[in-house]
Amino acid sequence: MKHRRMLINAILLVVIGLVSWLVVGPILVYVGIGSYTTGWWIFEETHYYLTPLGWAGVILAICGIIIFAIGLALFPIILILEKTKKGSWYASIEQRPSEAFLRQPSQFIFCTNCGTKLTSEANFCSNCGTPVQKK
Ligand SMILES: [Zn+2]
Repeated sequence: MKHRRMLINAILLVVIGLVSWLVVGPILVYVGIGSYTTGWWIFEETHYYLTPLGWAGVILAICGIIIFAIGLALFPIILILEKTKKGSWYASIEQRPSEAFLRQPSQFIFCTNCGTKLTSEANFCSNCGTPVQKK
């Protein structure tokens, strides 16, 4: 199923986005700050900026938000696709009324005694008066 595959992709994007946004990104940011602190201890100078690793974490976190947003945006698209698919499915059913028509009880019944054609509403045969046997 095409839509099911799309749904799995959307879930994967949301998960990847969330993990890189909330887990990997912040870890790299903290590692970046950590290496900055180490740099401060070693070189005894203060850098009020993140190290390249920290910046990589920030970029990864931003990318994570974007991936997460794309993943979320895919859900309504899938829902719309499913709706149109379902709509066309209903349309194809409506295009074949013969099937539903065949399921309906036949409009005419025949007398079990004389074989006269009677309407389904009839309780007695109009020819011989035999009570109509309803199913
Ligand atoms: Zn009859």
